[in-house]
Order: sequence, then C-alpha cells, then structure tokens
Amino acid sequence: MDEFVQKTLAGLVPAQTKGEGPGFRWQWLEQGVIRLTPHSKVTQSLILSAGIHGNETAPVEILSQVLDALWRGDINLCWDVLVVLGNPLALQTGKRYQACDLNRLFGGRWAKLEPGTECARAELLEQVVGDFFANCAPVRWHLDMHTAIRGSLHPRFGVLPARNTAWPAAFLHWLELAGLEALVFHQTPGGTFTHFTAQYYDALSCTMELGKAMPFGQNNLSVFSVTRHALGELLGRGPETLLAQQQPVARCYKVSQQLTRTGEKFILHIPDDTVNFTPFSKGVLLAEDGKNKQVVQQETEYVLFPNPLVAQGLRAGLMLTEIPHPYG
Ligand SMILES: [Zn+2]
Repeated sequence: MDEFVQKTLAGLVPAQTKGEGPGFRWQWLEQGVIRLTPHSKVTQSLILSAGIHGNETAPVEILSQVLDALWRGDINLCWDVLVVLGNPLALQTGKRYQACDLNRLFGGRWAKLEPGTECARAELLEQVVGDFFANCAPVRWHLDMHTAIRGSLHPRFGVLPARNTAWPAAFLHWLELAGLEALVFHQTPGGTFTHFTAQYYDALSCTMELGKAMPFGQNNLSVFSVTRHALGELLGRGPETLLAQQQPVARCYKVSQQLTRTGEKFILHIPDDTVNFTPFSKGVLLAEDGKNKQVVQQETEYVLFPNPLVAQGLRAGLMLTEIPHPYG
C-alpha cells in the first residue's frame, strides 16, 4: 500500500509533505488529500476520490494501487490530479460514517446541521475542491469510487448528477470502459460529492459503484481490475485517446421519483433483501407515511439504494425508468 493511503489510514502526517515523483510534483494538502501536478503542461484536471464512506475499502485499495503505479513511473501522468480519501476518521474505524452520512452534506448542507466530524470534513473538502478547480487545467473530471451495501442486478454502475447540458461521449465511454454496466442520471440537485463538483464547478462527475463492500484485505481485487486498468489508461493517456471503436454498452436509467423518509410513521414496503435495479410494476405500493402513499407510476420502475433506516428527511430509495443510451 502506498504511503499516502497508509499514513491517512493511520491518522499520521508524513514527515515530508511535498516532493517529486516520476514526471510530476506532489503535495500533501490535508489529511487524506494529495495533489499531483505533471511537469509538462496539461489541459485536463481530475478529482479521484474514494472512502467517502469509511466501510467501502475496495476503492481505497484501487486508489492505492494506482498511486503505486504512478510512483513507480508506470504511468506517464497527463492530468492535474487531486486524490481525496473522503472520510479518514470513518476509514480508520471501518464505519460508514461517524455522526452522519458525509455524502448527503455537500453544497453547504453541512452548515444546517449540528457541527460534527462529517460536517467539518464536508466544509474542508468543499474548500479544497474550490482551490483546486480555481487553479487547474480547464477540462474537469471527478470520479468518486464507492461500493454498495446490497447486491445489484448490475454489479457495477455509475450515478451521474443532474446536468443541464449533454454528457460528452468521451466521459460516458470511459465509464463503460471502466466496467460500468449501467448509468443512472439524476434529474434534480442533491448533496453528494459528485453533485457538488458538477453543480458548482461544471465538472463531469460520476459516483462509481464498483461492487459489494468488504473489510480491508478481504476484497477480491481481481473483480476491480477492469476499473483499475481503465484508471491507469486514463491517467496516462487522457480521454480522447481512449475512444477508438468504443461502442455504447451501458444500460441507461433516469431517476423517476425519490422515496423520502418523511416522518415517524414512514414505512418502506420494499423487502430488506431487495437488490438494486429490481423491477416493480405500475401501481405497486412502495412506501407510505400515514395518509401519503407512494406507488410505482410508470409501467416499470427499478429500485436503487432502498434503505428504510435513514434519518428523517433523507432519501430512503430512488425509483428509476430505463432510457435510451445518449449515444446508442
Ligand atoms: Zn458509498
């Protein structure tokens, strides 16, 4: 495991906080935040993040392997890169979060809650991202790597924040190259890290769900090799060079409705063991809260991230409809 990840997981700051790697200079900016800047002039900037949820270890291990490859000189870095381990304290304890879910707090939502670990971290990450994007190459990408709690009919998929203009083909095609079998397009703003970078900095952002969460060292990393390989290719070559003969392959969905835990009487009528992308037919009761009932509105809707145990006011699940691939 590379030193940046090791020190972050141990809660330590390295003795040396800046230096030179093969073809780039690096700087440790904050706990869990390091910037790599190529010596040659580049036009592309990338935020590569993992560990926003502290129990999602495989993406941290992928990140560590990619950093190892960069430091060995195996990748000729052609992006300005900000590497972010989202929630170091949660990673250190192997918990999803300490006080509340970090990935609901971005876009200033942290300011409306009781101060705590995650609120402070969201504020800090917003500052760090703002500094990076104020002073970086013009093409902006953000890849935020996660693993899911439950099983999924599409084991690897991406969730893309709301965006007013079309998603460039190069971005969607790279996500497919990284092994994502489905792409889910949000229609309204939200509090995730990727929503923040997309909404405030017009970054091409994706929350990448790469499989099931396991403890450190228990991940079958061969499952993740497609993504790791695609990241190495991206960092060393840039998106334009990756497009040759790439055919659209991902199934595409948009969010049709959100299930929100509105009050104490809220009941989610989706069984606990329901896997992501399970279809439901029109009229099926999904959730109720006293008199308010939420049912499937379209012919078929697919469930994503059902979770009755969220705090009041937060998302208990998303319902999706399938849409044509934008470049299909
Ligand atoms: Zn996650």
